[in-house]
Amino acid sequence: MNPVDTGRRKFLGATAAAAGVALAPGVLLYEIAAARPPGLEASRSVRWGMLVDTTRCASGCTACVDACNREHGLPAPTRPTDAQWIRKVELKDLRSGAVHSAPVMCQHCAEPPCVDVCPTGASFKRADGIVLVDRHTCIGCRYCMMACPYKARSFVHEPTAGQKTDTPRGKGCVESCNLCVHRVDKGGTPACVESCAAAGHQAIVFGDLNDPSSEISRRVQAVATTQLRADLRTDNGVRYAGL
Ligand code: SF4
Ligand code: SF4
Repeated sequence: MNPVDTGRRKFLGATAAAAGVALAPGVLLYEIAAARPPGLEASRSVRWGMLVDTTRCASGCTACVDACNREHGLPAPTRPTDAQWIRKVELKDLRSGAVHSAPVMCQHCAEPPCVDVCPTGASFKRADGIVLVDRHTCIGCRYCMMACPYKARSFVHEPTAGQKTDTPRGKGCVESCNLCVHRVDKGGTPACVESCAAAGHQAIVFGDLNDPSSEISRRVQAVATTQLRADLRTDNGVRYAGL
């Protein structure tokens, strides 16, 4: 479901419930809001997350980055200021010299600093843990970009082209990985996870961290995992193994 639609629907529903606005003879706005198919609300019982196994992530492979760009209509970045929702980083253990390659995207924090500092509520967290930006209420102040410890957010400096229906973008707004919410809400898998598997690496597992029988939960229980900058206690939905 489009997160913007969710917010607007809630607003419209609340407004109509209070006012009983008549749209046409015999049709009230709250009736339309109430007619939404059941089961589309994000559920608090779910916590969507990803587990990145850095031992399977290939140095130099950009399948996840390319897939994200394709999925959301992001041009390949040519400047440091260009929008980028996921990036590959090389992490070096200074003691052993071991180098790990890993994708870094929005960590979908349970305690997201970006949400705390947003003055308009444009930056928000869904009940199922997905952190989003409502581009219609984002005023481009970029407080969230400064607050994010993971450098996960981008500001759109230039007019956009080649927009995708599921990913509304706009100059002057902040954006970041939306966990491919349009896919997830239809029972699908994020584009980066899919492309990583298609490239033969299967380094990223997506699923419900609250469901003990899900693959991601079983893997998190079976192997040592870590959260980036766990000391910040943002309780990230993205976990890493092998670091
Ligand atoms: Fe917000 Fe950054 Fe956390 Fe994503 S990683 S939820 S943008 S603070
Ligand atoms: Fe990009 Fe979707 Fe992966 Fe997030 S989950 S990094 S939006 S492909």
